[in-house]
Amino acid sequence: MTRRRKIYEGKAKVLFKGPEPGTLVQYFKDDATAFNNEKKGVITGKGVLNNRISEYLMLRLAEAGIPTHFVRRLNMREQLVKEVEIVPVEVVVRNIAAGSICKRFNIEEGTPLPRSIVEYYYKNDELGDPLISEEHITAFGWAGPPEIDDMLSLSLRINDFLSGLFLGIGLRLIDFKLEYGRLYDENDQMRIVLADEITPDGCRLWDIETNEKMDKDRFRRDMGGVAEAYQEVARRLGITPESGQQDIKGPKTIQ
Ligand code: UDP
Repeated sequence: MTRRRKIYEGKAKVLFKGPEPGTLVQYFKDDATAFNNEKKGVITGKGVLNNRISEYLMLRLAEAGIPTHFVRRLNMREQLVKEVEIVPVEVVVRNIAAGSICKRFNIEEGTPLPRSIVEYYYKNDELGDPLISEEHITAFGWAGPPEIDDMLSLSLRINDFLSGLFLGIGLRLIDFKLEYGRLYDENDQMRIVLADEITPDGCRLWDIETNEKMDKDRFRRDMGGVAEAYQEVARRLGITPESGQQDIKGPKTIQ
């Protein structure tokens, strides 16, 4: 890692000042946390894999017309992104019941939901990221109604696109978390763009055939084989370092 000025250190990433104004460098760590920081650990190689996986998914989403903060990958653990003002709302999209929704409504894990459900959580570690409604978001001024509309429609488009992409490589997208940021252009016009990362840290991915978990639930539940699962996701996407020149090619469709 080159010497850079640290701006912020989160649980799984560090943000540094970027080489040009309006840019940041996202450094992916191997650190993992769960249950609002109660469980901590290191998943060796996770940062390298997540840097690649997020690069790949952000590029594919950009091709599909989703505005993102991603600029380019710089090296094994770092990527250049546009500096945005993060909206303090985590958007979760669910297709199949898993995790907190199972407890909240007493639903068995793996139950398909009647339709995709979008939830909002207030991004605040001290409060344990509480579930919120649009009312809280607008009343407390975390985002305005047009921004919520943008985040909702982008999240549903991202869900459609990623569900199809993962299905093509034998993975079911159970649920995932997104973060958005405000990006201001030269004319001070603001638009909402996808920010943060999309990786198995913030998605649930199950193998279509076996229902095997290929995501951070392996860490949360001490199932072992965490790094191997992330590696397998990258391999199926066709982006493991071993795949060399195929690096940024599309996922291979399983037969
Ligand atoms: N998630 C996340 N960060 C959070 C909370 C949730 O990335 O702070 C992701 C999580 O990995 C899952 C989805 O959002 O893919 C839904 O998580 P859930 O509400 O079920 O909470 P969990 O059971 O993970 O605590």
